[in-house]
Amino acid sequence: MDIKNKSLLKNLSYVDGEWINANDGSVTEILNPANSESLGSVPNCGSSETVAAIEAATKAQTKWSKADVKERALVLRNLHRLMLENQDDLAKIITFEGGKPISESVGEIAYAASFFEWFSEEAKRVYGDVIPGHQYDRRTLVIKQPIGVVGCITPWNFPSAMLARKIAPAIAVGCSIVSKPAPETPFSALAMAYLSELAGLPKGVLNIVTGDAEQIGAALTGHKDIRKITFTGSTSVGKLLLKQSAESVKKVSLELGGHAPFIIFDDADLDAAVDGALIAKYRNSGQTCVCANRIYVQSSIYDDFCERFTQKTSGLLVGNGLEEKTQQGPLISNNAMKKVSLHIKDAKDKGAKIATGGNPHALGGLFFEPTVLTGVTDDMLIAKEETFGPVAPIFSFESEQEVIRRANDTSYGLAAYFYTSDLGKSWRVSEQLEFGMVGLNTGIISTEMAPFGGIKESGLGREGSKYGVDDYLEMKYISLAGIEE
Ligand code: ADP
Repeated sequence: MDIKNKSLLKNLSYVDGEWINANDGSVTEILNPANSESLGSVPNCGSSETVAAIEAATKAQTKWSKADVKERALVLRNLHRLMLENQDDLAKIITFEGGKPISESVGEIAYAASFFEWFSEEAKRVYGDVIPGHQYDRRTLVIKQPIGVVGCITPWNFPSAMLARKIAPAIAVGCSIVSKPAPETPFSALAMAYLSELAGLPKGVLNIVTGDAEQIGAALTGHKDIRKITFTGSTSVGKLLLKQSAESVKKVSLELGGHAPFIIFDDADLDAAVDGALIAKYRNSGQTCVCANRIYVQSSIYDDFCERFTQKTSGLLVGNGLEEKTQQGPLISNNAMKKVSLHIKDAKDKGAKIATGGNPHALGGLFFEPTVLTGVTDDMLIAKEETFGPVAPIFSFESEQEVIRRANDTSYGLAAYFYTSDLGKSWRVSEQLEFGMVGLNTGIISTEMAPFGGIKESGLGREGSKYGVDDYLEMKYISLAGIEE
């Protein structure tokens, strides 16, 4: 990978402050999705390396939880600074391993770094409570303490930001971490581990184990010293981890799949809605859990919207993410290509029209044409399943109550978006949408200052914001008796 600061490129796992190989020396090769070229390899670790990491993290956690809060905040501030100082190189690593257009990767690093800044500030605000005693000689205290060692599993679509969003609050409150990056994108996580060392994080507080997902997942969920599991990824793996964690009743936070409705009412600012839908649909080539997956347009403006949206979609520049002008990079895998093709074929067979795109891109490999489908109906696969690709299905609707019912008719509940200029409707619809996050007149909702997370089968818990530390804390109540002489 051609970057300036070569020390960011690590090809070993990171356990107890040491860079380690797998015990059996085996490695996994990592490929660039834009051209299938090898980017190097990382150790193929399994259970035993994970257990060693948990033991190191357990030892480190005792000390880290007793560090002065200002020391923890300083390490996080350092990490924030180091991420930004290396922003261009770290962004390139994301693009090399994940294919993301470089401008989006630069944005992801800023977003990732923002969690270190935010939680360096929140570290100092882990307040408790003093509650009036229920008897005259008693006082009731509530304190919050770090939960302990955290097991963390992250996806490939935001390899830097998803890790930062989990480890920043953990580090802030005095937890230690054993983390497994996605097999497609380990280098961003390893670079972050390297920077954490420079930032002054004591050894053993952050451990990164690359390798076999099932073995590492089972070791994390099965170990008594792991007190919390935090996961971002598919709903099926999230359910599996929840089941595995039930055995020892671990606290679990899950950020899972989504199937975001994007609703445009006929009183909306149409230009703004077109631009918002483009961002919400095609960010990371449609491979984010908050991507618009069902675009509902009120019937009186349906044709107008479809025309404007299709025109802008067909102008999106597809190419290698490293080229500055690229707006759509490759998909992550052959499976992703297959799912996109399947959703398009199914929709076509059931009567949808392809307004633009619809095929693998002429560039070949994992590139797919940004695609718009019109005349989409609720019986099509794309109306139910997460596509995770650059396909925009556009549905038509008549009334407010109808579209709310259809938008909520899904087992997912992560993000929803809608555009209107009516104040009453803004409130009514926001309150009735069964989703953890609502973008009202915007297609971008992610910020470290707001609680990110879903309801229903989209997850448990919230990340970022003042609530983001809660998942890494236990509450303890102390009943203080015998105060009177
Ligand atoms: P995707 O289909 O987007 O890759 P996954 O849920 O499969 O989503 O992957 C998200 C993360 O979960 C990755 O780090 C992956 O390696 C990990 N993972 C997949 N299967 C398991 C498993 N059985 N146990 C633990 N982690 C897993």
